[in-house]
Amino acid sequence: MKGLVIKNTGSWYSVKTDEGKVIESKIKGNFRLKGIRSTNPVAVGDLVEIITNQEGTAFITKIEDRRNYIIRKSQNLSKQSHIIAANVDQAFLIVTVNYPQTSTTFIDRFLASAEAYRVPVILVFNKMDILSEEEKHYQQMMLKLYSTIGYECVETSAVNGDGMDVLRPMLKGKITLLSGNSGVGKSTLINRILPEANLRTSEISDAHNTGMHTTTFSEMLELPEGGYIIDTPGIKGFGTFDMAPEELTSYFRDIFHYSKNCKFSNCKHTHEPGCAVLKALEDHYIAASRYQSYLSMLSDQDENKYREAF
Ligand code: GDP
Ligand code: ZN
Repeated sequence: MKGLVIKNTGSWYSVKTDEGKVIESKIKGNFRLKGIRSTNPVAVGDLVEIITNQEGTAFITKIEDRRNYIIRKSQNLSKQSHIIAANVDQAFLIVTVNYPQTSTTFIDRFLASAEAYRVPVILVFNKMDILSEEEKHYQQMMLKLYSTIGYECVETSAVNGDGMDVLRPMLKGKITLLSGNSGVGKSTLINRILPEANLRTSEISDAHNTGMHTTTFSEMLELPEGGYIIDTPGIKGFGTFDMAPEELTSYFRDIFHYSKNCKFSNCKHTHEPGCAVLKALEDHYIAASRYQSYLSMLSDQDENKYREAF
């Protein structure tokens, strides 16, 4: 039987079969997946094959190849990763221009790593209800910047429901990763989309309106209209990969656009003569913030950070 892993509680996995039944399953044998040293061989979003037994439970016997996966690198020395989710269709990156302010570096790093895994990102500008005139103006600039590059942007208020009519249809039938810094409103948004999820959002913890909450990131929340949401606090990127410098450029769509006219094909766009990116930056065709983010990822790359995970 085939099914989708929708929950992982320690050694048990809840597998939703094609017929819509949820069967508690365990792993049979020792799965070793190429190139990933992870604490969990199976993750939510995985498509698996199971064999049921007399007790009404099942064994997972096979994992289908993943289209992509999202990992969190462990903090300890084992260097093992935890796979948060597999086979993600799209990501909503929740950002706020204030309370707390999401940095453009964070946004751009997320976008670049999502590009690497071909996961479409929708930028959700939340907390539009509490912005000052000046912040609204800044938000408009951000919207213009990112929509010009080609990213879909939505303005929302998880508190009063603005923008939900736009977000909701985008979720239908898809596995959507919800990401963003702590305090931007992920839990509040989920509560609005899915009242029965009842995620706990604690009191405002400090002057920056950052609420703290606990999330089990090994569960997909099923939407009544079909589709799933995965809440992933604090994840910074997708998967593990080795990137060539030219590759990094290609993950910044705006920079990539101009890089085709650089004099040298291996141009890193830092100082090279005949660099079309530097020219475009000077002429304000590329935003300084985007270029700064590119440079920061480039310097990580020089330090080999991408050989492991984000
Ligand atoms: P998470 O850490 O991303 O899950 O953020 P939470 O959902 O816990 O929200 C953090 C704080 O921001 C809470 O106090 C929420 O009530 C508040 N909040 C969330 N969304 C909005 C919004 O759209 N507008 C306003 N004014 N506050 C919001
Ligand atoms: Zn160049």
